[in-house]
Parts: sequence; structure tokens; C-alpha cells
Amino acid sequence: MDLGLRDRIALVCASSKGLGRAAAEGLAKEGAKVAICARSAELLVVAAEEIHKRTGADVLPSVADLGSERDVERLVSNVERKWGSVEILVNNAGGPPSGPFENHSFEDWDRAIQLNFLSAVRLCRLVVPRMKEKRWGRIINITSITVKQPVEGLILSNAVRAAVVGFAKSLANELGPFGILVNNVCPGYTRTDRVVRLAEAQANTGRSLGEIYQTWEKQIPLGRLAEPDEFASLVTFLASERASYITGATIPVDGGFIKALL
Ligand code: NAD
Repeated sequence: MDLGLRDRIALVCASSKGLGRAAAEGLAKEGAKVAICARSAELLVVAAEEIHKRTGADVLPSVADLGSERDVERLVSNVERKWGSVEILVNNAGGPPSGPFENHSFEDWDRAIQLNFLSAVRLCRLVVPRMKEKRWGRIINITSITVKQPVEGLILSNAVRAAVVGFAKSLANELGPFGILVNNVCPGYTRTDRVVRLAEAQANTGRSLGEIYQTWEKQIPLGRLAEPDEFASLVTFLASERASYITGATIPVDGGFIKALL
């Protein structure tokens, strides 16, 4: 299937590793030009080189903290200066800390709202005007299974990511007439550093790491965690021409974890 992504310009946020990196590589494999970002240059530059080496695609690394308005503005202007405008925006950021309600300070809530909700709003404010001019665009928000089924011990994610879904649905309605598609993707348990950290946090409560992975695997009909590239395939498809009639959707990649019908 030709996905029609050759020479499209993509900005994939929080992409020096994990899901963001896999999504960037998925788009690069299909011939898109890909801008990636993270807070420090160390892993980011290596990721850019590796993605370029594996795919031959142009990759632009920019150091940016997605919690900073100035950094986000600089990030988008770096892409615009180099390639014109952002045509595909993949919103993503590091996940909020785990733990029950009483463990989180008000600053934790503020940081989660800034990073996991407002960073997406900020980026959309910056890229939507040019997408409207071009009458083409893709906005894909990386959220979590928590938007469909709250996960125990992840109250910040359970609460804050729901706002992204409401925002995206409204935006999809407003931007549909301009050929801009807005969708959410919900990773389930996927083998990245984030999941290792979550397992370690739970292991502190007395169970072994192996037991924690087994508990998760038992709840997943496919019986295993996902690999990041299995998640990236959906992002790449939604960014493509082939996804031309999909907007306002919230789609899990969870091995069947979510127990609800819809
Ligand atoms: P990860 O820890 O493997 O990677 C996170 C990436 O975000 C890294 O590149 C890191 O440098 C970057 N980053 C973190 N904070 C940043 C900031 N302030 N500014 C810029 N870049 C920043 O995590 P992941 O597993 O790839 O998760 C990505 C998102 O998906 C997170 O929000 C996570 O909570 C969510 N998620 C992950 C899973 C999973 O199983 N992996 C499941 C559900 C939801």
C-alpha cells in the first residue's frame, strides 16, 4: 500500500526514545521528513543519526522542553525555517508520575496539565493556521489506554489525558472542513523505558518485577506487551493519505486490554 507520505513534513514530539522515536522512524521509513525533539541533545542526536541511517530520511533534531512555551515556539520555527511548515503533528510528552492521589503535590498536577495537555494545545495553536492555508494536515495525539479505562495508580494520567480527548474531538469538528484530521492513539503496555519505570515503582511495594509483568500480561488478551513499532504502525497509517476518512477517533493499540465495547 502506498501511504503517500513521501516528502511530507512531520514533527514528532518527545522522540529521542520510546513511542515517539518509533513513530518518527515509522514516518521516516515511508519517506516523510521528520523533526524530533527531547529535553537534552545526548540521546536525541543519536536517535536522529540512527533514524537517518536506517531510513535515508531527512531528520531534524531540536532540543526542546515541551513544558516551556518558548521552547515549543522555537521547535516549530526550526521546522518552518528548514522545511516550510508542519504538515503532520504528533503530540507526545513524557508521562506523568504514578502513585495515588495523596502522593501528588499541586505542582505535580500543574506539571501534568502543562506537559500532557497544554503542550498539545500550544503546538496546535502554532501549526493549525498553516495547515488551514494548505487545506491538509494531520494531528495525532499520543494519549493512553487510561482515556478509555482508568488504570490504578495513574491518577494524573487518568485525569489529564481525558482533556486531550475532549480537545481533539472539538478540534476535529472545527478543522474537518479544511482537510485536517485529528485523532488520538492510546498505547497499552508497550516495551519502553516508561513501562520499566512503572514496573519498578510497583516493585517497591513488595512484588518482584517478574510478578508485575505477569499481572499485566494476564490482563492482555494477546498475553504480552506491545513493541514500540507495533504502536508506530497506527500513527504512520493515521498520518497517511490512506487514513483520509478517519477523524475525531480515539484508537487503542493495547492487545485487547481495554474491557469496554467502544
Ligand atoms: P519514554 O520514557 O520511553 O520516552 C519519553 C520520551 O519523551 C523521551 O524521548 C523523552 O526524552 C521525552 N520527554 C520527556 N519529557 C519531555 C519534555 N518535557 N520535553 C520534551 N521531551 C520530553 O516513554 P514512552 O513509553 O515512549 O511514552 C510516551 C508517552 O506515552 C508518555 O506520555 C507515556 O505516559 C504514554 N504511554 C506510554 C505507555 C507505554 O506502555 N509505554 C502506555 C500508555 C501511555
